[in-house]
Amino acid sequence: MIKCFDFGCLSSNTYIVSDDGEAMIIDAGVECRYLSDYVKGNGLTVKYIVLTHGHYDHICYVRDYIDEFPEATLVYHREEHRVLSDYEANLSLWICGRAINYNLPHLEVSEGEMLEIGTLSLEIIHTPGHTPGGICLLCRGEGVIFTGDTRFENGFGRTDFKYGSIEGLEGSLARIEANYKGYKVLAGHNY
Ligand SMILES: [Zn+2]
Ligand SMILES: [Zn+2]
Repeated sequence: MIKCFDFGCLSSNTYIVSDDGEAMIIDAGVECRYLSDYVKGNGLTVKYIVLTHGHYDHICYVRDYIDEFPEATLVYHREEHRVLSDYEANLSLWICGRAINYNLPHLEVSEGEMLEIGTLSLEIIHTPGHTPGGICLLCRGEGVIFTGDTRFENGFGRTDFKYGSIEGLEGSLARIEANYKGYKVLAGHNY
């Protein structure tokens, strides 16, 4: 089951993927209470909070999520810590006017690793470019790919932020196009 909350910071999407009583939250741009209601209402245990990348509009409520779901493990790509821990790179100063360096306990993942939720497996696809440690999550069981800000339904992410790379993004987009064309794109924003 996939639930999308599409009213996050800068209209970012936060998703909950669940199966067999377990849940994964993808990104943290939506106020925690909406997720809590859904998690409680469906009797779920949150196993992972996964960040597609470290930009403020996708991570701004992450501390609230960690407090609310202490059983969950925070997960992001090993190349992304330098974005989260740097207020210029994570855009907190630019978006909300506060310089926040995020240094949170987390599990680092890399290309090809699998995260299990009930009977579903989500594969980490490293897609640098928008940020160095941006990831997509491929869920074969649901026929979808969560693409963060790498790829939108009708476009792709910016590369002019700190640590962005146009060459990297082009490579990542080509890879998605070549390998995951049949999967429904569930992006970080609906544009
Ligand atoms: Zn972004
Ligand atoms: Zn975004």
